[in-house]
Amino acid sequence: MQNTKPHAALLSSPGMGHLIPVLELGKRLVTNHGFTVTIFFVTTENFSKSQLLKQTPCPDLLNIVLLPPVDVSSLISPTTGILAQLAIMMREALPQLRSAILAMEFRPTVLIVDFFGTEAMVIADEFNMLKYAFMTSTAWFLALTLHMPTIDKAIEDNHVKNQQALLIPGCKSLEFRDTFEPVLDRNDQMYIEYKRMGVEMQKFDGILVNTWQDLEGTTLGALEDEKRLGRVAQVPIYPVGPLIREITPGPKSEVIEWLDMQPIESVIYVSFGSGGALSAKQTTELACGLESSGQRFIWVVRPPIEGDSAATVFKTNHGTDDTPDFLPDGFLTRTRKMGLVVPLWAPQTEILSHPSVGGFVSHCGWNSALESIVNGVPMITWPLYAEQGMNAAMLTEDIGVAIRSKSLPTKEVVGREEIEAMVRTIMDKGDARRARAKTLKSSAEKALSKGGSSCNSLAHVANDCETAFK
Ligand code: UDP
Repeated sequence: MQNTKPHAALLSSPGMGHLIPVLELGKRLVTNHGFTVTIFFVTTENFSKSQLLKQTPCPDLLNIVLLPPVDVSSLISPTTGILAQLAIMMREALPQLRSAILAMEFRPTVLIVDFFGTEAMVIADEFNMLKYAFMTSTAWFLALTLHMPTIDKAIEDNHVKNQQALLIPGCKSLEFRDTFEPVLDRNDQMYIEYKRMGVEMQKFDGILVNTWQDLEGTTLGALEDEKRLGRVAQVPIYPVGPLIREITPGPKSEVIEWLDMQPIESVIYVSFGSGGALSAKQTTELACGLESSGQRFIWVVRPPIEGDSAATVFKTNHGTDDTPDFLPDGFLTRTRKMGLVVPLWAPQTEILSHPSVGGFVSHCGWNSALESIVNGVPMITWPLYAEQGMNAAMLTEDIGVAIRSKSLPTKEVVGREEIEAMVRTIMDKGDARRARAKTLKSSAEKALSKGGSSCNSLAHVANDCETAFK
């Protein structure tokens, strides 16, 4: 029988942080709107589907196609920034995407690409598909991206040369220290690729963004004003978030069993995303700061940037003490009663949704920030790379759910005393940021529920996709 609902192809760039919201968007299109969805995931190395499903379990709702890694070594150099590398990988993967779509019996009529995949619009045009971009970050970041073509001179003259704050319509002024690095050097390939993405996105049939009206209403409203003023193209913008990874039922992990034994909102969770690592000195300061705060904690530890990766081979400090070299002597023994040190990876969404967790030290990857907000957990921001500095500014100065260090974690070492003080502040039950996070938790639930702003936004997109090909 001919399927009367649209088939959407979703293209994700490499990285779990990019794939997770794309998968969640796909699941919603299937379950709420009856779409058929194929996810194309551009891989960087030999990455098996079972590996992927282990990290990102999803029911058999989606057809997942892994596009094999393309060799881009001749196109990049050791100095090519990560944004440019991802853009190049996505460009080189386009022939595979084209062949895969050509080979499909039930051809997709809609293409949804993440931020790095905007060049795939040529394929959408070739196959007469509707084309949507999916900004898996904030409306703040979308505003910067869409304004790049018009504010690039101001960036150069004021922000880069004089380190003045950057004014992006609808956003609080952005301090130089929080800037998105690719905007800093107009001769760098990252700058060129980033600006191109901002131009291309405006030619799409719509832009979906992983935020919601209540969270970033000012920025979203300003984008509408900018469209009326002709400074941004008339591209519809759909806030459809927060789309975060769902918890899949299964046996309880060791970490969750430990959390079950802790008092309500007594544990601070510390994690720097899927790849973030600290320097050796910073790792020591963090360990000492956590210990002296006396606060219960879960810390997902990676070897220091300059360290030996084999050093991470240690067990969660439940049983024996095998404190690795990069932690203070005897740390695992001394903290055994108050905390868990987990090597490399922890079930983050399960942890953040546990009632015993009351705070999060986060690198501010947008998935992590959303996972914290939807669980009403206030944060200490610790931005490391990409747009995380902007996210940290937005979470502290605009949304009001976080605090941050006076030092800049990527450039300076945040000292143990300051860490201890920040932990005490954010874990204080009466702190205003906790109340704000709880308000936003309800607001997120409302946005996604039937009749809520994000639910309606996605329904609008789904409806346009259905009517376009009737
Ligand atoms: N994550 C996890 N366990 C970890 C570290 C990360 O489950 O130990 C998940 C986290 O829940 C989030 C994603 O990996 O969904 C990281 O995405 P984010 O945008 O926060 O940061 P990125 O890793 O892209 O820098």
